[in-house]
Amino acid sequence: MSEILTSPFERRRGLDARPRAAALPQRADVVVVGGGLIGLSIAWRLAEAGRSVAVIERGRVGDGASLAATGMLAPAAEHEPGSDGLLPLALESLNRWPGFRDALQAASSLDIDYRADGTVVLAVGRDEVERLRFRFDLQKRSGVAAEWLSGPQVRAREPLLRPNVTAGILCPLDAQVDPRLVMAALLRACEAAGVVIVEETAVDGLERRGGRVVGVRAGETAVAADTVILAAGAWSGQPGFLPDGFALPVRPLKGQSLALRTTRRTGTLSGMVWTAEIHMAPKGDGGLIIGATVEDCGFKPGVTAGGLFALLEGARRILPGVEEMEVEAVWSGFRPTSDDDAPIIEEAAPGLIVATGHHRNGYLLAPATADAVAGLVQDGALPDFARNFGRARFGTTGEGRAVA
Ligand SMILES: Cc1cc2nc3c(=O)[nH]c(=O)nc-3n(C[C@H](O)[C@H](O)[C@H](O)COP(=O)(O)OP(=O)(O)OC[C@H]3O[C@@H](n4cnc5c(N)ncnc54)[C@H](O)[C@@H]3O)c2cc1C
Repeated sequence: MSEILTSPFERRRGLDARPRAAALPQRADVVVVGGGLIGLSIAWRLAEAGRSVAVIERGRVGDGASLAATGMLAPAAEHEPGSDGLLPLALESLNRWPGFRDALQAASSLDIDYRADGTVVLAVGRDEVERLRFRFDLQKRSGVAAEWLSGPQVRAREPLLRPNVTAGILCPLDAQVDPRLVMAALLRACEAAGVVIVEETAVDGLERRGGRVVGVRAGETAVAADTVILAAGAWSGQPGFLPDGFALPVRPLKGQSLALRTTRRTGTLSGMVWTAEIHMAPKGDGGLIIGATVEDCGFKPGVTAGGLFALLEGARRILPGVEEMEVEAVWSGFRPTSDDDAPIIEEAAPGLIVATGHHRNGYLLAPATADAVAGLVQDGALPDFARNFGRARFGTTGEGRAVA
């Protein structure tokens, strides 16, 4: 009898059973609040550049959105009206992925299942063709790589899809990774580079002196730092410890997903596919991830019958073979989402850098974010590609930059 795992976190614990209960250091050059994808990526880059770094994570590494993701690196498929401001950063980060992958795999000796197999965005039935054309025109106007496919051309690429698939857009440069492997690799790379990782410890205060953030407090313990980086994902907008008047417009957007197990008999897809309702991403271990709901319901946890029904119905509409596939895992997570769906990356106050709000693009944007924040710490300025992602764009920069 096969066992249904309730989440990818259980599988992660198989890889990584031991909580990192390192004692809090007295000081570090850099303290990162939050042990998700963004916090670990930044920590690794800074440690490799010679900084002493401590990551403080309230739960276990990856417990936030990072292990809930599908791992698509899909700026072309995801390009939609209103996302023009994000596109250059997204494409910059996609270009940085091969270098990031090579360095991460070398530093960790782990493979992260990076697959440059592209995405096909599908139209199902005649009604959806017009909507797909609109998307295609937008992609072309924005200079995104995209090719129009007829229904037969889509099925030549993905023979298991139903005949009701009437057209598609191939986004050939989109890629994907396996989030569980990326997080395992980042953890290993961080540890190899000397990052101190403290799990099951919440940061609940900032240490401030002379208008500057000079460290954090966790319970009774203070950790001094030249720079504190807030990478607390969907929770970044919440901390009561941020300075008065300091507004971070970040909220949780819940997503539910599931993984099916494919076999030789069921077959699988050759690359990622998208419809109006769902996406599907085949992984190197034979898993097929189906995601993801988008629910604006605060931090309401759990997997619902309605969420799973919507995902499975959306999948069966295009891929009849899902009926034969075993359910391997179901889970939910909270995307950290800003008011314009783009990240917030800036020195928000002297000694305090914010790197959050990556919404549904944290994996795509991780290399650029890590390099940008490492540049900010090392050189005192963000590289050109990461300017314009401060809170000033929302008109909510808070009460000046000094922290009293
Ligand atoms: C269902 C789903 C599918 C997704 N699919 C994709 C995808 O295909 N491609 C893509 O690019 N992105 C995807 N994303 C988005 C991606 O997962 C996120 O953008 C990314 O993981 C955010 O990383 P993070 O490190 O900022 O946040 P998180 O992973 O949430 O990490 C933040 C961490 O901070 C910790 N924390 C909070 N408060 C404190 C405190 N006071 N002290 C210490 N620690 C604290 C939390 O416990 C948490 O572990 C998806 C997200 C979801 C939910």
